[in-house]
Amino acid sequence: MSKVWNFYAGPATLPAEAIARAKADLPEWEGTGMSVMEISHRSKEYDALHHEAMDLMAELLGLDDDHHVLFLQGGASLQFAMIPMNFIPEGGSADYVITGAWSKKALKEAKIVASGRVAATTESDGRFTRIPGQDELDLDPSAAYVHITSNNTIAGTQWHEFPDTGDVPLVGDMSSDLLWRPFDANRFSLIYAGAQKNLGPSGVTVVIVRKSWLEQANQELPTLLKYATHVEKDSLYNTPPTFPIYMLRNTLAWVKAQGGLEAMERRNRAKADRLYGVIDGHPGFYSCPVEKASRSVMNVVFRLPSEELEARFVAEAKEAGLVGLKGHRSVGGCRASIYNAMEPEGVEALCRFMEAFAAKHG
Ligand SMILES: *Cc1c(COP(=O)(O)O)cnc(C)c1O
Repeated sequence: MSKVWNFYAGPATLPAEAIARAKADLPEWEGTGMSVMEISHRSKEYDALHHEAMDLMAELLGLDDDHHVLFLQGGASLQFAMIPMNFIPEGGSADYVITGAWSKKALKEAKIVASGRVAATTESDGRFTRIPGQDELDLDPSAAYVHITSNNTIAGTQWHEFPDTGDVPLVGDMSSDLLWRPFDANRFSLIYAGAQKNLGPSGVTVVIVRKSWLEQANQELPTLLKYATHVEKDSLYNTPPTFPIYMLRNTLAWVKAQGGLEAMERRNRAKADRLYGVIDGHPGFYSCPVEKASRSVMNVVFRLPSEELEARFVAEAKEAGLVGLKGHRSVGGCRASIYNAMEPEGVEALCRFMEAFAAKHG
């Protein structure tokens, strides 16, 4: 089989090194005589792996002692409900900044289990093409927290500077951009991310929670839906998704070996600059619907002059070994997801294909 460059939004491409390590480890892992999928989650070997993955995450993000890394299940989507269940007190409400389809889903769950309020929305004609400025935020000082979506996987927008929420705890859905660059993670009271975009395979959700915030959390909840349970038991209250956590460890080790988050940021910015350069360099053929200052470094969305040309572009790109370029079904167009693991060489191959396609059809 010839090399394929994978631009799917998620599950998404993983570092070749992480896959190769799994291939070598799979039949017999670390002298145990079995694979990591078969060993008890209470064994000392698994325990070491579990904590290595947590420690790597904390190290890469520079977390302080008050922030705890959790590995949960249920995807980012369960976090939409768990966060309001745990942190909105009786009669209280939380603020949501609506920048795309995922923020809307998060708000919907908050309204089911408690109460949520729109602090700002950039929806216009059913579309999201930008991130709001600080001056556009109508923040309630008594809100339980402010929720933002750091990268809008479908709309192709990204917060480049996080908002100032004063004393109100800040919560971030970072499912499609956690670890793309260094940032002050300790400013957040809670960060969550389904692993399958920028961190690993599907099946594990990374949550980083401020332990001192848990002192105010609701106690009358089912055991598994309480963050306190998972903090106390180090995400080993029940059987964790051991193989996804193993793959997450492989990816985190790869990020560290590459030089950590500073290296990721250099690599990601160079890829995004190259790709947006091709889009901007062919006005009238390629166009990006997103305002320049809000463009995502992870999910690059673009349009061609007609839906017919877009379908042809996606099909011909696939034949050329460039897969997963169709935009999300709700918005159409094209999307190239160029997460940490996407090699610069893959973006270069896409750019050359785009230049040739424009020369032929432009
Ligand atoms: C994909 C995605 C989700 C949903 O993740 P699941 O793990 O499928 O529940 C939530 N938020 C954002 C920003 C996403 O990109």
